[in-house]
Amino acid sequence: SDERIDVGDGNDELTELANAYNAMLDRMQRNIEQQKQFVEDVSHELRTPVAVVEGHMKLLNRWGKDDPAILEESLSASLQEMERMKSLVQEMLDLSRAEQVEIHYKHERTVVKDIVTQTFNNFKLVHPDFTFILDDDIDDDTTINIYRNHLEQILIILLDNAVKYSTDRKEVHLSVSDNGMTIQIAIQDYGEGMTQEDTEKIFNRFYRVDKARSRHKGGNGLGLSIAKQLVEGYHGRITAESVLDHGSIFRVRFPKLTEEDETQ
Ligand code: ADP
Repeated sequence: SDERIDVGDGNDELTELANAYNAMLDRMQRNIEQQKQFVEDVSHELRTPVAVVEGHMKLLNRWGKDDPAILEESLSASLQEMERMKSLVQEMLDLSRAEQVEIHYKHERTVVKDIVTQTFNNFKLVHPDFTFILDDDIDDDTTINIYRNHLEQILIILLDNAVKYSTDRKEVHLSVSDNGMTIQIAIQDYGEGMTQEDTEKIFNRFYRVDKARSRHKGGNGLGLSIAKQLVEGYHGRITAESVLDHGSIFRVRFPKLTEEDETQ
């Protein structure tokens, strides 16, 4: 921006100071953008329930005093919307707290097979009623450039969803493959699935397909947006493919590290 200090590329203390100052400006700019985004999300999410309650209040005001049926219905609908708003506000508070913790991308050489196998075994242990199938087709020492805890977090979000949105067929497939330049991890379930329209929106913050159903399952619509942020922070890609009532498949791709690649 205009406030940035440009002192050329000398190698003295003044340059160093200018660089530190510019970096600070960039950080502030990022924070402002995050806050703007947050306020936008909040307003968007609250607009609908507020409008619904307002509508019922108007009905009540006009007819409710004389008509017990309207009184009954509008009151209970309003209360339901109030409940929704209450949990929205709670989620937003949680998020604003979470957002203060910026993601610190830490680059390290991580052996894909180790993390995948470990996370896979944990899930098997925690969900004994599920059939987990691991199909890994990569060399034991294949590495990608990612902080190992972040890779684990991404897998947990996707596996959690595969379990959470399953129906009768309690089966989850995890496959890892080497495409030469990239490593692909795919997680497939045979659960409720979703429409094409929903599939395009699930990476947005707060988005849930069937709000009533997802809330019942304890979701807050944040998992996939965090997964996407993490994946892209390490120059990866995440995609979803789904068929309503048949299941979903999530694919994550990362650039493969070669012998010559250096990690910072
Ligand atoms: P949540 O906490 O609600 O699960 P996510 O961001 O992880 O939030 O997911 C957003 C929405 O995407 C979910 O509410 C759900 O409707 C849908 N979704 C995610 N994963 C799956 C899946 N494996 N099968 C069907 N729907 C899914």
